[in-house]
Amino acid sequence: MRPGIDLAGKRVLVVGLARTGIVTALFSAGYGATVTATDERPETELHETAAKLRAAGVTLELGGHRAESFLKQDLIVVSPGVPAKLPELELARARGIPVWSEIELAWRFLRGKLIAITGSNGKTTTTSLVAHILQAAGIPTLIGGNIGTPLLALVENSMDTTVTVAEISSFQLETIEKFRPEIGVLLNLTPDHLDRHATFDEYAQAKMRMFENQLERDIAILNADDPEITKRMPTKPHIFWFSRQKRVAAGAFLRDEQIFFRNEGSEVALARRDETSLRGEHNVENVLAACAAAYLAGADPAAIASGIKTFKGVEHRLEFVAEVSGVRFYNDSKATNVDAAVKAIEAFPGPLIVILGGKDKGSPYTPLRELLRERARMAILIGAAADKIAEDLGDGVPLESAGTLDRAVNLAVQNAQPGDTVLLAPACSSFDQFENYEHRGRMFKELVASLENQNQSAAGASTQKG
Ligand code: ADP
Repeated sequence: MRPGIDLAGKRVLVVGLARTGIVTALFSAGYGATVTATDERPETELHETAAKLRAAGVTLELGGHRAESFLKQDLIVVSPGVPAKLPELELARARGIPVWSEIELAWRFLRGKLIAITGSNGKTTTTSLVAHILQAAGIPTLIGGNIGTPLLALVENSMDTTVTVAEISSFQLETIEKFRPEIGVLLNLTPDHLDRHATFDEYAQAKMRMFENQLERDIAILNADDPEITKRMPTKPHIFWFSRQKRVAAGAFLRDEQIFFRNEGSEVALARRDETSLRGEHNVENVLAACAAAYLAGADPAAIASGIKTFKGVEHRLEFVAEVSGVRFYNDSKATNVDAAVKAIEAFPGPLIVILGGKDKGSPYTPLRELLRERARMAILIGAAADKIAEDLGDGVPLESAGTLDRAVNLAVQNAQPGDTVLLAPACSSFDQFENYEHRGRMFKELVASLENQNQSAAGASTQKG
């Protein structure tokens, strides 16, 4: 049984009014709480939100936070974008006021089982794949969390037989109290968000909080090939592994290109590795993790095999865009950290033209150096991090600075030869030049589409002439 919480009559403060904050404020008000919501942004930037929340009886404090309001609450719920160490939150904590992320609140209301998926990279792909497999298996499935729909918005549709598959970020885990998924998956631990977490260890500790409330009957699914994970293993839950490299005592692994799930000495064959349309070794890890989670949540082997076959991947993750004049374009705008960019580059034998850059997140770019030297014809740099990247890459690969994405695409076209792949895998976040990585990815796809159009009209003009 989950602890639950009776919100009726409670004073609840919601901090941060993006999608999650809005849902939290409306949900809490709907359950009878006296809700105040605060955001740094002024009313002028929050018009529609403000009107909607006021109509639901929520009191608004916009254009900054008021410390005294934080101290008057029974509960504070923070959105994922709000720093857990905000001074007003520290004050509230010191007074014993609980500060929760939305996933803590949602978990107390959600019915059924929860599969929570975290890691530095691969969360969205794996979360989508697990949900896709469970649906193929006929299991009532909900999907949400960091992936789009806040978990609180799923509560209404959850039933005792539902499996909710949730993508969970390290930010959300920083402010949990009793949050306890029945199945927790940790994909990998590599440096990311060092602009927000002080050290790698602090970041890794936040991720490991996924398992801190788990009981013996709960399940942790861990990457056996990641030394940062094996050295931080949780002690309570039942552990299953996934591995691309070796047979595991319990969990999912590869043998002769076939995925097996092994438990208590017996093995069942699930899918074949070549049945997935996802590219790259990193995606084999995602598929293995997804197989283990889906199998342990009750999906049958046939449904797992068919789910793996029919899953087409997620937009902005190694997404094939088009082939123009023999050059193939791939959009991996979601490669917002160095490890993701490394994995993306490794998924292509080359020759590659790689577009890199954006807003720096504090990790060195040196891991890209050898790989680019081996596989890339050139690297084209954009955005604020260009100089730092150039410094870290040295003279291993020809570099061009393009500044903007449209100039980068033009430069790529000028330099590409038939058979080449142009890959957008920025290794940086997008906020210096774009609203978010989706915006950057869409822009890339539009630029490629206009190349295709130019090509077609040029071909049309020459046929007319001929
Ligand atoms: P997340 O939700 O954790 O950001 P995504 O599934 O959106 O993960 O993938 C983000 C990027 O990380 C992709 O563009 C891909 O290049 C890379 N990636 C995906 N899965 C993995 C993995 N298992 N290991 C390393 N990199 C990965």
